[in-house]
Amino acid sequence: MGVYARTPLAFERGEGARLYTADGEAYLDCMAGIAVNALGHSHPKLVQAVKDQAEKLWHTSNIFTIPGQEKLARMLTDHTFADVVFFTNSGTEAIECAIKTARKYHWARGNPERIDIIGFDGSFHGRTIAAVNASGNESYLEGFGPKLPGFVQVPWGDHEALKAAIGPTTAAILIEPVQGEGGARAVPDQCLKGLRQLCDETGVLLIYDEIQCGLGRTGKLFAHEWAEGAEPDIMAVAKALGGGFPVGACLATVEAAEGMKPGSHGSTYGGNPLAMAVGLAAMEELVKPELMDNVRAVAGYFTQQISGLKDRFPDVVVDIRGKGLLIGVKLATPNREFMQHARDQHLLIAGGGDNCVRLLPPLNLTLDEAREAVSALERACEAARAKAQALVA
Ligand code: PLP
Repeated sequence: MGVYARTPLAFERGEGARLYTADGEAYLDCMAGIAVNALGHSHPKLVQAVKDQAEKLWHTSNIFTIPGQEKLARMLTDHTFADVVFFTNSGTEAIECAIKTARKYHWARGNPERIDIIGFDGSFHGRTIAAVNASGNESYLEGFGPKLPGFVQVPWGDHEALKAAIGPTTAAILIEPVQGEGGARAVPDQCLKGLRQLCDETGVLLIYDEIQCGLGRTGKLFAHEWAEGAEPDIMAVAKALGGGFPVGACLATVEAAEGMKPGSHGSTYGGNPLAMAVGLAAMEELVKPELMDNVRAVAGYFTQQISGLKDRFPDVVVDIRGKGLLIGVKLATPNREFMQHARDQHLLIAGGGDNCVRLLPPLNLTLDEAREAVSALERACEAARAKAQALVA
């Protein structure tokens, strides 16, 4: 189906932060499959994990015990607020599970009327019918039938609107601690703490979507950890969890998941042995403190250098946002064109809402590679300026 506005560029292989075309042209990958290849391409430990498991067992069924699933679940619960985990194949399925878990929680407590999920403008939670309704972005909803009941949107950052939206039918608040597609907007730490408090006061569950901003991207294992005491009740993760292999998960406290009983939910593939082997290998790398140190060092360098570009190219770079290695650069010139200028310099970056481009490099990007990316960005700024000036002339 023609659902993607693809660029004709194709790649044959990847290694670390490099992607190579069939004729050997190298590109520096600072989008990492949109925050998926967090450990770079062809990471030896992930490659080995796939090979070893592929020779043993790919798939059984969730009617059997899957030891790898228990190990990865334990690893996730050991490192988070959560007690229980449901494995999926994608981010949007993790969001589906989060929404179902929240509604079932209230239903099990004798409050079946509590179905409303409050979301925020500019959010992105995936492409299933529930996820597009939760995001509320009109362009993703158009043509797919009536908007579903039970989904409410409030403006991002509008505390009063949020408080006013909470009522007797509210089930949960769903938020990305750092918005990804929406233009790399980070929720201030005190607001996450405020959200936690508000949820505690009203009996509403707090759901974080850490599909893009989680698993080390901001320099802590999860983005909400920057705001002490702002743990969610439920959290959706995916992307980096499989390092490029499709693995997602919905994490919850035992209390929040108390409505989820045998038969409440399921997935044929979710949590299969092959996926779990890769997920385990990825998690073993993602929890390493030295990886987080690298994220903070490289992110600091990028932020400083891109601020320099903003000073020198105020006609191109308007703002720098995000957190850690989820970096948004808001532009004065069209972001799609800027992505092409970057590609012309053999640098891959992602687009984003609010006319941003996003840098989402592998978390193990070296400082030398970051320097190379900044030089390419500088040349892309020059090209964007030249194009804008040519249009005026
Ligand atoms: N939530 C967020 C914050 C995302 O960035 C994405 C994907 O970009 C999703 C949900 C959906 O994940 P998937 O495309 O794996 O279904």
